[in-house]
Amino acid sequence: MYDVIVVGAGPSGMMCAIRASQNGKKVLLLEKNQDIGKKMKITGGGRCNITNLKDVKLFVKSLPVKNGRFLYSALNQFSPVDIYQYFEQIGVPLKEENENKVFPFSNQSNDFIEAFKNQLNRYEVDVRRETEVLSVSIQSTLKYVKTTKGDFKASKLVIATGGKSHPQTGSTGFGYEVAKDLNHSVTELFPTESPLISHDRVINSKALQGLSFHNVKLSLVDENQKIIQSHTNDLIMTHFGLSGPAALKLSQFVYHYLKNHSSASVYIDFIPQIKRDDLINELKQKRSSHPQKQLKTILKGYIPQRLLVYLFNLEKINESLKIAQLSNTLINRMTQWIKQFEVKIHEVKPITAAFVTGGGVSIKEINPKTMESKLIPGLYFIGEVLDLHGYTGGYNITIALSTGYCAGNNV
Ligand SMILES: Cc1cc2nc3c(=O)[nH]c(=O)nc-3n(C[C@H](O)[C@H](O)[C@H](O)COP(=O)(O)OP(=O)(O)OC[C@H]3O[C@@H](n4cnc5c(N)ncnc54)[C@H](O)[C@@H]3O)c2cc1C
Repeated sequence: MYDVIVVGAGPSGMMCAIRASQNGKKVLLLEKNQDIGKKMKITGGGRCNITNLKDVKLFVKSLPVKNGRFLYSALNQFSPVDIYQYFEQIGVPLKEENENKVFPFSNQSNDFIEAFKNQLNRYEVDVRRETEVLSVSIQSTLKYVKTTKGDFKASKLVIATGGKSHPQTGSTGFGYEVAKDLNHSVTELFPTESPLISHDRVINSKALQGLSFHNVKLSLVDENQKIIQSHTNDLIMTHFGLSGPAALKLSQFVYHYLKNHSSASVYIDFIPQIKRDDLINELKQKRSSHPQKQLKTILKGYIPQRLLVYLFNLEKINESLKIAQLSNTLINRMTQWIKQFEVKIHEVKPITAAFVTGGGVSIKEINPKTMESKLIPGLYFIGEVLDLHGYTGGYNITIALSTGYCAGNNV
């Protein structure tokens, strides 16, 4: 008999178990994998972007969800700044990089896992690895958990089983089934932060495969060319389509758009810092001031060589064309390619390949101050299993840690 059973040893479950134990509860943490924090280990390319150092208001505003206000209470109990201080206190020195992203000083995600292990040990959490929870049932105020290694019971049960993304890490969507079995609503699940698949000529030709671009603007437009969503960030052209932060950030919007359309137009602006008319004027000016310069030499200042060769082939431009020979029409066309390069997207990679699962246990049925179910007292949901998510950049682990801490405080 335990006070609290936590199912799942990802960042949310570990944080919750530690906090509840610190508060004097007898806690059992169940994890089906051989080791804890398996997904956390591969995050941030093995470096783990643990949080995003924004104040709570801006943090919530930066989430791509309409229901982010739900997080105010949890984030006020354990904010990005608290997370930063917590890990430094338990022996993981951190550093802040661009866009407020926080990483371990060592660049090793494993440092977080070792620190969690020490804390779980220190506060005597009963951690059972290779113990898969098969089913959950409730009788009166007690919660019963059936596992591959026997049955357990407690008065409080916390579901911290994550989403459905990268299922090889153990996050296979078990928590959604538990929620549904216990009469909770689960909103539509969808891939977020997932690469974009294109069968467009530019992708199929592989001409630009492997090219990466720094801080380009990627926009999804509707059939009337109205921008639905834009993101300025790094982008990679791959053998299947588009990846990198800009594509990942756009992916949930593309996914929803593709539900009613066979393809989605996304435009790449390779130089968002220069306005379209300014670029036209710059090229015209250079035509007057450096008429003998080759067009390719001029354009190299704006876009990479491989893209240039691709565009010259498309427009059947001779590589040795002097800028003096450039017509106004061609200036407009080159500007169009550079500022509004269209790639048709046909699919978004599925949830299993996505970084994060969108949708989840409806937060309408969860108390935001405690993470307790409004339907079943003593039952809690935390982390990615909830209908909440953020962009890449440390938002998702922050949501996991702060909802975990909040539940740990309140069980
Ligand atoms: C490749 C990749 C990189 C990422 N990088 C970042 C990043 O740098 N920063 C960031 O903020 N976010 C990142 N994310 C997202 C982030 O990892 C998740 O949002 C976060 O791990 C969610 O934490 P969680 O505790 O809710 O669930 P998880 O970390 O998914 O943990 C859930 C745990 O529950 C266990 N479990 C599931 N079912 C059962 C069961 N039936 N019985 C027992 N145990 C069970 C699983 O084995 C797992 O260990 C990344 C995701 C991926 C896939």
